[in-house]
Amino acid sequence: MNFSVQVLGCSSAIPTLTRNPSAHLLHADERLFLIDCAEGTQLQLRRYHVHFQRIRHIFITHLHGDHFYGLIGLLTTFHLLGRKEELHLYGHAELEEILAMQLRASRTNLIYPVVFHPLPGEDMRETATDAPDRCSSFPVYEDEKLIVTGFPLLHSVLTTGFLFREKPGPRKIRKEMVNRLDIPNEWMGRIKNGEDYVDGQGTLHRNEEMTLAPPRPRSYAYCTDTAYTERIIPVIRSADLLYHEATFMQDMARAAREKFHSTAAEAATIAKLAGVKKLIIGHFSARYEELGPLLDEARDIFPETYLAEDGTIFKI
Ligand SMILES: [Zn+2]
Repeated sequence: MNFSVQVLGCSSAIPTLTRNPSAHLLHADERLFLIDCAEGTQLQLRRYHVHFQRIRHIFITHLHGDHFYGLIGLLTTFHLLGRKEELHLYGHAELEEILAMQLRASRTNLIYPVVFHPLPGEDMRETATDAPDRCSSFPVYEDEKLIVTGFPLLHSVLTTGFLFREKPGPRKIRKEMVNRLDIPNEWMGRIKNGEDYVDGQGTLHRNEEMTLAPPRPRSYAYCTDTAYTERIIPVIRSADLLYHEATFMQDMARAAREKFHSTAAEAATIAKLAGVKKLIIGHFSARYEELGPLLDEARDIFPETYLAEDGTIFKI
């Protein structure tokens, strides 16, 4: 199954000619999940030849403009293109009001259903004074193949990080066992789900002898915007891929803390402490024309770090 993420924007608040603000597109099998939707995201989707009508779920981390100003434009484009399929939006409650007001003022009645799923409110807000071991996470979405969990980040407004995790797939039946035991069709599904098989003679065949374990479920954690907080570590521990913001370099650590952002070194420290397999960094301040120094700074701490530059696809 394809499980990959494409970066649609790696800039922080101010867009540049080469760096759009935040949006990531997760491909899980044939499905597309959009995470954040900054201004210009729909143009990025066109630039990278994404069949974007296939997006069914959009997750918005927080209500700073560089994470959702592109949403009304994308919703309107879906409408103009004659979309029929339901669209599911996950965001904080005020987002629903904002969109309703924008649609009302422009006399737009979307011709497709939008289902809004409010994320937990201020009581879930992470604050700098919380106990160091406070770690709250909550279910956001689930289907037969994927689970999405939300968790609070440490930012100047209510902000939610997301963990996308595959569910374990069915076990694979060994071909030679199908032939040898002449397993009837109606047993196939049950055996793939882990049941032992009792043949016509009443002989029991143990599941482990007939099947191979499914591939290990993969996971992707999206953490932006946030100041350095170790409280997220239990939720993102051992993730295959972690996206963590790295707005500044370490010489601006103080500014980062004051603005509730992170440095490249801090992102790498979180990756190291959480034992993730790979880290991608983004949400770069427009002050950095060259990103190499941010990458070097992170790699000194966590060598498996990569730049989440616009258009890059990371296979998970
Ligand atoms: Zn922000």
